[in-house]
Amino acid sequence: MNSDEKHNQQLNELADRNGLAIVTVDENSVVLSESNNNSMCRILYDSAEFAPHCAEFCGKAFEWAHETGEAVEYKCYAGLNCMAVPMKNRKSVAIIGRVFLKAEDYRQATTRAATGDWKQFPVNQFFGNALFSGAPDDLGKLTREVQATVGGRQKAEGGRQSAVGSQQLAEKVQNPKSKIQNSKVEEQQPKTKDQKLTIAETVENRKSKTENRKPKTENRTMEDWRSLFGSFLESDYKQACLSIAEFVGQIYSVSSLAWLERRENRLETVFAGGDLENREIQLSISADDGRLLEAVRRKMPLELRRERQSADETVEPPTIWLFPFAVGGEVQSALVVGDNLNDETKKRQIVRFCQKIAPQLEILRLREQLSRRSLVERAVEKFNDSLKNIDSEDFWSHLMNASAELMRAERSSLLIFDEKSENFTAKAATGIKADFIKREKENLGGRVAKNVLSGGKAVVVADVNKIGLQSAPPDWLYKSASFISYPISIGTRKIGVLNLTDKADGKSYDDADVKLLDAVMPSLAVMIDRADLKHQAGEFKQLSVTDALTGLLNRRYLEERLIEEIKRSNRHGFPMSFLMIDVDEFKSYNDNFGHTEGDKALQMVGGCLKETLRGADVAARYGGEEFSILLPQTNSAEAEVIAERVRERVEMRCFPNRQITISIGIASCSLSLNSPRDLISAADKALYEAKRKGRNNVQVYENLQNN
Ligand code: GH3
Ligand code: MG
Ligand code: MG
Repeated sequence: MNSDEKHNQQLNELADRNGLAIVTVDENSVVLSESNNNSMCRILYDSAEFAPHCAEFCGKAFEWAHETGEAVEYKCYAGLNCMAVPMKNRKSVAIIGRVFLKAEDYRQATTRAATGDWKQFPVNQFFGNALFSGAPDDLGKLTREVQATVGGRQKAEGGRQSAVGSQQLAEKVQNPKSKIQNSKVEEQQPKTKDQKLTIAETVENRKSKTENRKPKTENRTMEDWRSLFGSFLESDYKQACLSIAEFVGQIYSVSSLAWLERRENRLETVFAGGDLENREIQLSISADDGRLLEAVRRKMPLELRRERQSADETVEPPTIWLFPFAVGGEVQSALVVGDNLNDETKKRQIVRFCQKIAPQLEILRLREQLSRRSLVERAVEKFNDSLKNIDSEDFWSHLMNASAELMRAERSSLLIFDEKSENFTAKAATGIKADFIKREKENLGGRVAKNVLSGGKAVVVADVNKIGLQSAPPDWLYKSASFISYPISIGTRKIGVLNLTDKADGKSYDDADVKLLDAVMPSLAVMIDRADLKHQAGEFKQLSVTDALTGLLNRRYLEERLIEEIKRSNRHGFPMSFLMIDVDEFKSYNDNFGHTEGDKALQMVGGCLKETLRGADVAARYGGEEFSILLPQTNSAEAEVIAERVRERVEMRCFPNRQITISIGIASCSLSLNSPRDLISAADKALYEAKRKGRNNVQVYENLQNN
């Protein structure tokens, strides 16, 4: 083995053991060796669009490291923490880490992958080997190890470094033949016992290693760890949580186990076994409680004991042990052990196991979250499009079919609530017994819908027989015992209830299905309300959400909807943008051609908005000759494209008297812009800037200098 091969082998072992990437490159950014590289880096580097961004960071690592002769830390364009370590031979640099150290950084990355500029990459591949740190000092520790083994600490020699950077990297992307030389690292010799635990390696690497593995019987636990880790990244998240609990149960002989999952800042029980099975685990601490992170730092579980309920309670109240899974300084889930854990070594072993597996578990969780999100996005888009242009007598049946398809429900019904008489009427139904539901007058909605609507919260039932609800009459012939009943309202006004049952795959409805409905409900509520109003005489007109002149939504509705959408955006990290539009020089249009002509022109501008927008977008007349558009799930770059389209459409439209143009200001939800008032005022500022720049143009608040 020559010395290069030896180096590579050492780096491989270090990367494997620490679960971080080590990539060595020469002065031209040509990759010499690659160990446990981050999948995101591989994919971004391979893309002509993103490689120049990588070049600004990892492309300069050689220069930075050899200039100083020391390890140089940087956070790259993707939010990954890296360390550039100069190699002894001065011919290369080791880029170490490529790891997310903070939850905030990878949350941004997931948002970009879900709805932003990284949307084009398949989630499974992109996050296939994303690297997260379980412990804050991982990067520093590995750096010291690399320095001790192969690194060099020498002062730079002036003028020796060549400029490496975006250009060469970009060139390489265009000329893939010269890319990544020597990057396939040779299969290594069998590892020593300690080094056998590999925690974040690529699937291919892992497979070949597993095949070559020599069975070792003297260390059963290590073998078991290895086999769990070996198949881990191929499972789905739920299955992975179960395997972990099962593993801890078997290997460490504990029988009472429960799994807690972070929901907002609470930790909620997802499943439990043994003595904990039928016990509601009520925790008095939040997922962000400092004691949890302190426990992670100290490498000990957190002991929680129920307080004595009365002074004469003689038996010691039971203790539970919490083993948090922490990545990037945030606890996403935790394992609860209800057994008596007196053995300190065992406690430490479980902690060590949890810390080692936490980054991989996080990959699975993110992958699931992302694929679910894009699934929701696609379904919602399809749903909104299918209902976009329906304005006929068939509206109700179209609506029911689209809802049933979205939710894969074989049966559905829509009950409209009359606030005066407090009665429900069946507007539409699909599936067997649909006619029956429509005819049924007495006590319609009395069993479930009434409570759902007054509670204002969706009810999802996995098994109706388990919740003590009065069951449906047998001749309703329900195929499954699971249903969703979803309240429909606009602001405080109660509109009705949507019922869905008999899921096509025979499974039960769950929270994910409710989320899907959450996504379509605001626009669905408006559609239902409008259709219902059309069927009534004008008595409810004053409650309407529609602007009479343009047929767009009115300001009252927009403001309510804005509150909801901002909440959703804050809660789920969805992007959201808001457009403020003002017609240019409109006073003179009125003055020259009269108010009636002005009104006609405003109607036509409203028409341009409607024609350009997508199903889920909300266009409103904000007042006078001002309009606004709310764009859910849209970041500011996408909003700019849409705004430009709207502006152009108005400019191109042939108005009766003279050309009309509009100016648009855009603001997008962010950590600092997260209330309706701030968002509107930011969009207003951008609009003002558009006017200042000569009208008939689009400005983005985020791009304004000094805001
Ligand atoms: P700019 O916005 O480009 O600065 O100039 P502008 O002339 O449009 O100025 P501003 O936005 O302040 O003027 C609004 C004018 O729009 C005032 C009024 O004549 C007209 N307007 C407002 N509401 C209506 C409406 O409902 N119908 C009609 N016909 N005109 C309206
Ligand atoms: Mg105005
Ligand atoms: Mg104006």
